[in-house]
Amino acid sequence: MSDDARERCGLFGIFGVPDAVENTFLGLYALQHRGEEGCGVASSDGKHIIYHRQMGLVSEVFSPELIEKLRNPHAIGHNRYSTTGSSISVNLQPLVVSTAKGEMAVAHNGNIVNAAQLRRECESRGSIFQTTMDSEVVVHLMARPGRGDLIESLVDALRELKGAFSLVLLVPNAVIGVRDRLGFRPLCVGEKDGTYVLASETCALDQIGANYLREVEPGEVVVISDDGLKSRRFCDEGEVRPHRCIFELLYFARPDSLVFGQNVHLVRKRFGVKLAEEHPADADVVIPVPDGGNSAALGYAERSGIPFDFGFIRNHYVGRTFILASQTSRDTKVRVKLNPVAEVVRGKRLVVVDDSIVRGTTSKAKIGQLRQAGAKEIHMRITSPPHRFPCYYGIDFQARQELIAAGRSEEEIAKFLGLDSLGYLGVDGLLDCVQPPRDSYCLACFTGDYAEEPPEHLHKLVMEEK
Ligand code: SF4
Repeated sequence: MSDDARERCGLFGIFGVPDAVENTFLGLYALQHRGEEGCGVASSDGKHIIYHRQMGLVSEVFSPELIEKLRNPHAIGHNRYSTTGSSISVNLQPLVVSTAKGEMAVAHNGNIVNAAQLRRECESRGSIFQTTMDSEVVVHLMARPGRGDLIESLVDALRELKGAFSLVLLVPNAVIGVRDRLGFRPLCVGEKDGTYVLASETCALDQIGANYLREVEPGEVVVISDDGLKSRRFCDEGEVRPHRCIFELLYFARPDSLVFGQNVHLVRKRFGVKLAEEHPADADVVIPVPDGGNSAALGYAERSGIPFDFGFIRNHYVGRTFILASQTSRDTKVRVKLNPVAEVVRGKRLVVVDDSIVRGTTSKAKIGQLRQAGAKEIHMRITSPPHRFPCYYGIDFQARQELIAAGRSEEEIAKFLGLDSLGYLGVDGLLDCVQPPRDSYCLACFTGDYAEEPPEHLHKLVMEEK
């Protein structure tokens, strides 16, 4: 995605197989794109939970020796990029705690929007928090005395949470999956050799040879144990109002995954077809900004009849250290990641397809590269509507002033970026391309219509933009 807006966190869980930890390692490996800051695995022998968490990529953290050390039949794993809670190793997950009700490990994807208030309430009752993560409130709520067994305590705790949370939990004799009542973040169930697997995306199921069964439904708790898979709701049916994050389909998920029951590559290709219908261009070649624009550029080329080509080549070996070096200029960072193919773009009228423009600085650098390589005209086509509102459900572009489309017209943005023309896919066009029902998606970062009232500090900004 342009400008480093990222949803971060990948979840995986598997119950009752001898190689549960190897499978979790492979699942996290497939989900690496959802979080590169750090990772962790917790496993159980049916009585006790052991774990390892560390900053770094899955391939860097888990050696064969470590996998052997963690060997147990039940396991969960987590890939993290910080959403709420700062980027320090104490905030890595799974979060593992021992309570009067037993041991448990929690892995979380999303952002619990009332976490600060719940934390204050827990602290006033004497809870001592180990981390700055919003996810920790879940275990403190569960640990309250007098609320039945762990599953009942979990259901009670979930009723108090607001915002986005897909969770995978491990207790000594079960793996548990949860999706919030609005279903922002994906979580699916697979099956392998008679047992069940949980994963953020189906690419992790494919990785271990598991079959996709279904999504965990919004508002559902699935408990996988020796009794098989048991399902229950933690809220009333009337409280379930799906608001699936459209950015999962636009950018976050891997194109080979099924997310919200639909193949991500084919959805993106349809975005490209629709974009060609809404914003045609007189051009010689369609090029994607890799990797986010690849599938949509194919769709645009097919619909418009303009040839597709690779005008940028992406370096797949860019390490995190380089990207994190704050003194490095934006231009240099972009140049390290993407290099234009001068022989494809020189003297040509280009349609450049990308998934979104957030802050605009990265897009400007990419356009500059294409001009330097000799592009004659540049017509940028974006597979999402203008990004004008902040997200507070776990995406790290939160301040309105960071969003280039907030308070600016498309002409002003095109001028700032140095484009000959700019076209955004409209909200209706976007919804024409995804599986119905149309009102089951969150589009708040385009429309400002949030599923839940924005927190106080964002409310004024949202009203100003509207
Ligand atoms: Fe996704 Fe945007 Fe909704 Fe955030 S506001 S959950 S990024 S669609």
